[in-house]
Amino acid sequence: MADEPERTTGLVFDERYLQHNPGLKKLPDGSAYPWVEPELHWSNHRLVQRTKQLLDLGGVTEHLTLLPPRMATHEEIERFHTPGYVARVERLSAEGEGDAGQGAPVGPGSFDVARLAAGGALAAVDAVVSGEVRRAFGLLRPPGHHAVANMGMGFCLFNNVVLAAMHAREAHDIERVAIIDWDVHDGNGTQDAFYDDPDVLFFSIHQDKLYPPESGWIEQDGNGAGAGFTVNIPLPPGSGDAAYFAAFDEIILPVIDDYAPDMIFVSAGQDASIMDQLGRMCVTAEGYRRLTGLMINRAERHAGGRLVVLQEGGYSETYGPYATLAIIETLAGFTSNLPEPLGHDRILAQAHHTEVGIAARAAIDEAIAHHSQNWSVLE
Ligand SMILES: [Zn+2]
Repeated sequence: MADEPERTTGLVFDERYLQHNPGLKKLPDGSAYPWVEPELHWSNHRLVQRTKQLLDLGGVTEHLTLLPPRMATHEEIERFHTPGYVARVERLSAEGEGDAGQGAPVGPGSFDVARLAAGGALAAVDAVVSGEVRRAFGLLRPPGHHAVANMGMGFCLFNNVVLAAMHAREAHDIERVAIIDWDVHDGNGTQDAFYDDPDVLFFSIHQDKLYPPESGWIEQDGNGAGAGFTVNIPLPPGSGDAAYFAAFDEIILPVIDDYAPDMIFVSAGQDASIMDQLGRMCVTAEGYRRLTGLMINRAERHAGGRLVVLQEGGYSETYGPYATLAIIETLAGFTSNLPEPLGHDRILAQAHHTEVGIAARAAIDEAIAHHSQNWSVLE
């Protein structure tokens, strides 16, 4: 990558992404916290905003090609979502408040921001497939991977990665794609979208039964013609970098090599980070840097370099932006000289950075045993 000309990596970002306002944290019945000072909703604007600040302050932005997003059209969104659901999000957005399903808050104007997020994912696809850039990161919100066809879930309104993959296949000459979802939660909406489809190979590596607890099981491995093309890798809490590297080396990379996709997408939730409030997976910024390098390597090997990485979750305002910075630095082939976040040296001294724990080893072995039924390369 050192030999590449500058700015071969695109960045999708728009200030309007910060305007989606999911409000305050609420109780499950929708009422306000009765006991303590209200806090901003988990999925507030700050992670994306602070990530952009790091990119700017670290001089990374000037090594990127800024890709302006556009509004996804109804037709493009309805490749996956039902017209009734799209109309529901539009109505709640106009009313200024509501829930588009299960834990999918809509604020004033969220419909347009969600269309701009989906359209940003489509713009990334267009730029990568046309050769304007070689790879791209979508620093966008609201996230998408939990959203199913007729309902928002888990802070997600429109499923950006599903719409991006569909766009690549329907508007361009891309036939087969691989999607790697490393968000700490299962990518249930993406799994649903392509469960019967052998032309989309979907991996989700996540904390076992975190959210949604009924999805992301090893046994959920596709249906009909799509049997075997969903590869779930649930891991126990505390797994850490070493377990993630083992799962990539022993499952994800060999299966990608066997499948040889024409394009690779990553659902990049940095809520598997060691400081995250909603996940307990202990992945470090350096861990994300290495995983990103593996994705670039496989995109170069099989897919003409075509790689689109889209922001999903991430809830540590302190550490999450550094994890995403590491990803974007790796994509850009440029490392800033920003200081490490406070406490980083102590994080790296912990065992899960270098050792696969007993429970994680067992989980990976169980996943290999199951998925080797569909992928002889794993035998
Ligand atoms: Zn998540």
